[in-house]
Amino acid sequence: MQERCRVLLRFADLIEQHADEIAALETWDGGKTLEQTTGTEVPMVARYMRYYGGWADKIHGLVVPADGPHHVQVLHEPIGVAGQIIPWNFPLLMFAWKVGPALACGNAVVLKTAEQTPLSALFVASLLHEAGLPDGVLNVVSGFGPTAGAALSSHMGVDKLAFTGSTGTGKIVLELAARSNLKPVTLELGGKSPFIVMDDADVDQAVELAHRALFFNQGQCCCAGSRTFVHERVYDEFVEKARARALQRVVGDPFRTGVEQGPQIDGEQFKKILQYVKSGVDSGATLVAGGDRAGSRGFYIQPTVFADVEDEMKIAQEEIFGPVQSILKFSTVEEVVRRANATPYGLAAGVFTQRLDAANTLARALRVGTVWVNTYDVFDAAVPFGGYKMSGVGREKGVYSLRNYLQTKAVVTPIKDAAW
Ligand code: NAD
Repeated sequence: MQERCRVLLRFADLIEQHADEIAALETWDGGKTLEQTTGTEVPMVARYMRYYGGWADKIHGLVVPADGPHHVQVLHEPIGVAGQIIPWNFPLLMFAWKVGPALACGNAVVLKTAEQTPLSALFVASLLHEAGLPDGVLNVVSGFGPTAGAALSSHMGVDKLAFTGSTGTGKIVLELAARSNLKPVTLELGGKSPFIVMDDADVDQAVELAHRALFFNQGQCCCAGSRTFVHERVYDEFVEKARARALQRVVGDPFRTGVEQGPQIDGEQFKKILQYVKSGVDSGATLVAGGDRAGSRGFYIQPTVFADVEDEMKIAQEEIFGPVQSILKFSTVEEVVRRANATPYGLAAGVFTQRLDAANTLARALRVGTVWVNTYDVFDAAVPFGGYKMSGVGREKGVYSLRNYLQTKAVVTPIKDAAW
């Protein structure tokens, strides 16, 4: 047990010692800004590893009271071999979310990276080896989804599958797991998260937070606040200021200081996002900023803002996964709850208000796994994350992740000559 802790804690130290290389690799591979990979991703990975290193020697079973002369122990054992499939939008963080708890619980891991971003996981896996992880405990596979990913999902020797990616692929891996050995599956999938601005909001602050909630990581976040609902009383002012903020956003070489937005991950996503922009225009939304590629080469997209978006438009229903903000107007709390909940997704939501009653009502009424009140995208290692509805199955992070990687065994022993 102690050795598991030591390895994970040493690994966290090594992550920090190699922070510059890891951040550069992550920026190079995925186009994220160096400021983001240095300031957010790398420190978070170290934090996750320390958090799960801390758990490794504190995972234990229970003795439970049972009727009759029986001694009942409940043991928590490692589940065995964990198969893990991660996406391209947060390669390092998804590695940490999945590998940390699996190793803390004593499992072996086979992790498949996304085809677009294989580098950082391979590099940090070598650091885990340097930290003392025995050979064969962690295996990183670079490969394509329908071949390597499908093989992992349907393998009879894999005892548990953890997947992060799109809802469509999530359904495929769940089916492959069911058709093979019924391995338990946790899924972290897509979203269409509402960010709700109430009428008492300080508009400048709300604009900035809503901007970050959507544009962070080039808009390529499962929990992006991609439906900005704004109360009618502050709507016009909000739209004007959201437009101005988007026009100010600095797009360019992600290695350059001061750049806020790098390129999209690849040509396929780039084209898909521009098609969504066209669909927004065609369906009658008002384009108030951006709407085209940025520059003449690379996969850069202008920070784009649509106003007057209606619920039934494709840009309000489907995950765009790009720098496109959709602003919708609402009048009452009841109305915004109904509309915010009216998608197949339920990953996250933002609520912006100073009124405690409104915040509490919204937080309870929204059918999502995380509600951020007057903040957004706060991810601590200890806090559970996951989706309602078609945004996922199960929870990751915190103590919740440990449950995904443990088997529960009851051992029942008679007590001879019991006093009762
Ligand atoms: P994707 O589903 O195409 O790919 C994700 C992973 O699945 C990749 O490793 C890919 O190789 C693999 N894969 C693809 N086809 C497969 C198959 N047939 N069998 C097994 N594995 C297969 O998704 P993506 O485009 O890489 O990522 C973007 C999506 O991920 C978005 O929809 C986003 O919302 C979602 N996402 C969700 C979360 C979350 O925590 N909920 C986090 C990040 C990304």
